[in-house]
Parts: sequence; structure tokens; C-alpha cells
Amino acid sequence: MKKEMKFIFVTGGVVSSLGKGISAACVGRLLKRRGLNVFSIKLDPYLNVDPGTMSPYQHGEVFVTKDGAETDLDLGHYERIINTSLTKESSVSSGQIYSSVIEKERKGEYLGATIQIIPHITNEIIKRLKDGFNAKGDTDVCIVEIGGTVGDIESQPFLEAIRQMRRDFGCKNTFYIHTTLVPYLKTTGEIKTKPTQHSVKELLGIGIQPDALLLRSEVDINKEAKDKVALFCNLPLNAVISVKDVPVVYEVALNLQKQHLDDLIMEHLGFENSPKADMSDWVDLVNRIKGLKESINIALVGKYVELHDAYISIVESLKYAGFSLNKKVNIIWVNSEDLNEENINETLKDAKGIIVPGGFGKRGTEGKMLAIKFARENKVPYLGLCLGMQLSLIEIARDVLNYSDANSTEFDPDTTHKIIDYLPDQYEGIKLGGTMRLGEYDCSLIKGTKTYDLYKSDLIKERHRHRYEFNNGFKKEFEENGVIFSGINPQTNLCEIIELKDHPFFIASQFHPEFLSRPLQPHPLFVGFVKASIENE
Ligand code: GLN
Repeated sequence: MKKEMKFIFVTGGVVSSLGKGISAACVGRLLKRRGLNVFSIKLDPYLNVDPGTMSPYQHGEVFVTKDGAETDLDLGHYERIINTSLTKESSVSSGQIYSSVIEKERKGEYLGATIQIIPHITNEIIKRLKDGFNAKGDTDVCIVEIGGTVGDIESQPFLEAIRQMRRDFGCKNTFYIHTTLVPYLKTTGEIKTKPTQHSVKELLGIGIQPDALLLRSEVDINKEAKDKVALFCNLPLNAVISVKDVPVVYEVALNLQKQHLDDLIMEHLGFENSPKADMSDWVDLVNRIKGLKESINIALVGKYVELHDAYISIVESLKYAGFSLNKKVNIIWVNSEDLNEENINETLKDAKGIIVPGGFGKRGTEGKMLAIKFARENKVPYLGLCLGMQLSLIEIARDVLNYSDANSTEFDPDTTHKIIDYLPDQYEGIKLGGTMRLGEYDCSLIKGTKTYDLYKSDLIKERHRHRYEFNNGFKKEFEENGVIFSGINPQTNLCEIIELKDHPFFIASQFHPEFLSRPLQPHPLFVGFVKASIENE
């Protein structure tokens, strides 16, 4: 029998940045632990087709899925917290919806109808949600987060679509969670529920009665305030959930469980007889994190360092590696554009490890190479990611191979030493959408290398997001000068990961390992790197 599609919708009210994504992911974690297969979708109201072209300053990191979609960073929270792998169906923007409706209109698929927000845009949204539910084939419940705040013009078609879905799929197959801010007035010690009441009213005006309210606040929402919200918002008391700020984000899931939100959802959606979620490993994790006393300084040398969200997956990966080694990772944020020969020693003097992340464009690359040279010469542990690998090879080409004009054709198309290059046939043998290598690719590891020792595997799969590749024409020269190509793509022979011979830890990958770290399964490259940094103390 075909499974009935079941959806949980998560909306936000009062203000943005309430951490709805985290709450939605925590709900997913609890349901997964109760035996359900959970899929997640983020609906984003912006008109960009995907965040791939948006500045990291505006949008934070671009998260890449296994199947190569460039998505919102919230998908990273979902993958990490739920411990799952999502697909291109997980990220839906207004831009995608509108462009596919217009494309269909141009093809004459609407048979002369007048194209309108309702029903054409809303139907397209509903279609995308169904596609998401069916994407993996085994989904029991799909959690849909609606970006933006209730009342925004942009998100109205999304809200109208999810309103219709209760009618189409039935009450027992749809569950609406609304997240709001509950201000706490310190001077009088009062919890104010009025903005929540207004926000729910706004949602009711659209035709959506929430089934649960998550009240985000600095403090625990007491019974009196919960009673008040329940009464005014027409909900049973057990559907009013307090989500107070916590020092460790994983505690959110534990707090939701304590208030039985998962029981409420399971019962509503008709999933019976499932055992309570065993969250003991998360309880241990939270306790371990709270007990961390010592920290380790790691410098992250990037060009978007003013917005830490631009490197969120890397930050998380470093943290997880630290947890497993009982250290708190303290990141020293270094803007590569400010780095020069004069200030580099002072800037990096406290760094026990250096990381150079991915990036696009020439700006800041010279500073990154100074940091790489510093790590290489002073034997400071180094982890390079994507551009961080490309630049380490360029730096070595300039300084060790003595090719002073060595570069990537991304930055200098006319250089005679094209260490990193775009070759038209570089992707022969693998299918490729646009011109970027995106998503998961194989990497064969070479036995006897440090990289192999970390992964302990002959073949690994890692995610990519880049256009340029290492030019194998220089491989032999690099090998003769202490560079070990420790992993290659078996289909194309492209360079995937390198390391240096006479260095305690100098590893740089063309792929992005940060997308595969999980709180309880830290990524081996990050663990190796943080461990080497600790040993460098
Ligand atoms: N700009 C480089 C390329 O396109 C590196 C990309 C990245 O670091 N993600 O190949």
C-alpha cells in the first residue's frame, strides 16, 4: 500500500532569526529516533533561483547536498542535527517556483489559462512539497520550514499553499508548528505574550490554526503564561512549548522531548506504538560540552570572516572534532585581506592550527598564501579546503618550484604556470550539470599516506563545489618536492587531496569535508587536524 504523505509545517512570527531551523531540525531528530524516516524542506521566499550566486555576506554559507544542489545553510543544520542526507528537493525558493511556472506557461502547458498566484504558483509549491516527500522513497514524514516571518508579502504564497494542504491531505496528515518570540522584561520580570497572540491572529487570518506553539524566550515560560497563550490562541496546554535560550544548541531537542512535543506530533499524525526516543547519547554530548574546560586556538583565514555564518559548516566541524578530543575550539578569525608580511607573525602567533577555507575570486588570495607559507615553514598544522588546497599548491609552486608567476587561471588567465586550471575535457567520464563540479564524487585514497590513516578506507565519497582543478601536468614536479597526492578521483584522475611529506600535518582537499561532519560523528580530517593542533601546543 502506498504511504500517506504526512507533513509538519514550521512557520515563524514576530521577528526573524528565532532559530526555527534549529527547532525544526530538533523535531526531526526526535522523530527519527522514534523510528520515522524524516525528510526536510526549506521554503525560501527570495527570488534567486538558488543561493549559489548570492554573496556569502548576505546569505552565509552555501550548503551543498550530496546530489549537488547549492542550498540554504539551514539544510546543513538539518543534515547535522537529524543526521541525514538531503537532496535538491530540500531547497525550494520563490525564484524556482516562479521560473518553472513561467517556463510552463511559455511552453503552452496551461492551455491558455490566465496564470495567477492562486492556483498556479500555489499548485507548483504543493507539487514541490510532494516531490520532496517522494524524493527518497522511504519518507514517513516531511518537515517543511517556511522562511521569513508571517505577515511578509514574500512568504504569502507559501502560507496559502500550506493552508490548502490541510484540506487536501487531511487534518491527521498535517501538523502546523508556529514559532514566536516571547519578550522578557527584565525591569518588571514579566513575560509578554501579546506579540505571540497577534502573530497567531495573523496566521488565523490566513486560515491556519497552529497545532503547537514554540515560544522562544530568554527564560522558561511559566505555567501561567502558557495557560494564557493556550487560551488566547485556542490550543491545549500541552501544545504550548517553552523553548528558552540554551548554551548548547542540542539541548533544544532535549527540552522539546521533556515537554512531549514529539508525543503530540506522533499522536496527531497517527504513528502509534512507537517507543520513546532514546536521546541518551545527546544527553552525554551536552554534558560533555558543558564540562569542556580547555580550549585550542585555530586560525581561520578567510575573506568573509566578518560574517561567521559564511563558514558555519567549518565552524561546526571544528567544534565536533574538539568535542571528541575534549577541547573547546576557539577560532581566531583572520581577514586574509589584512594579512601581510609585517603583521603575519603577530597575527598568527597564538594559532596552534591554521585553516584556509574555500572561496571565489582573487581578493584575499595573497594573504591566504602568506598564511599557508607560514604554516608550511613553521610546521603549524594546516587544513586547506577547496580554494585552500588550490592556493597551497600555488604557494608551493612559487616558493619551492620557483615558478614566481604560478597561479590559477581563475586569477590570472595568462600565466605561463597554470597550476590550477579549467580544462574543457577535465570532466570527461563524469556527468556534469553546469560548469561547476558539484556534489558527491569518489576519491581513491593511497595506502601509506596520512590521509589514508585518518579515513582508514580505500574509497571515500566527498562533496564538491568548484570549477577549477589541479593541473596534472605539474604532478611529477610536485611529487619530487615533497607533495603527496593522497587521493584522486578514479574516473577522471583529478586531484582530490594532497599532503606534505615532512610536516606534522599539512593536508588540503579539493572537496569540502565540512559538509559531512556530524555532532556525534566528527569528520576524520577535522579530528586529525584538531588533534595535530593540540599536539602542537
Ligand atoms: N574558486 C575555486 C574554484 O572555483 C575554489 C572554489 C571553492 O573554494 N569552493 O575552483
